[in-house]
Amino acid sequence: MEIREPRQVETVVGFVCDVCQHACSKQADGLHGTECGTLRADWGFFSSNDMTSEECHLCEACFAKVKNFILSLGGAVRCWERSWHS
Ligand SMILES: [Zn+2]
Repeated sequence: MEIREPRQVETVVGFVCDVCQHACSKQADGLHGTECGTLRADWGFFSSNDMTSEECHLCEACFAKVKNFILSLGGAVRCWERSWHS
């Protein structure tokens, strides 16, 4: 027999840009969406940051600045179209 009790669970309901502090949520015509970029690293055994993770959430404008910086270094930011169901 399962023993159950109600629990309060925290859920992510939105994001704030870690650079400019603007909300990454947008609302228009009864639609609500989160437009947020994520810069993330998971460091492993061969890294000097072994077993740490780093993460930064970015609004669309700040993500574009970071993306342009990466491109200015000769790097690439992969881009692909997603379907509505993924
Ligand atoms: Zn921002």
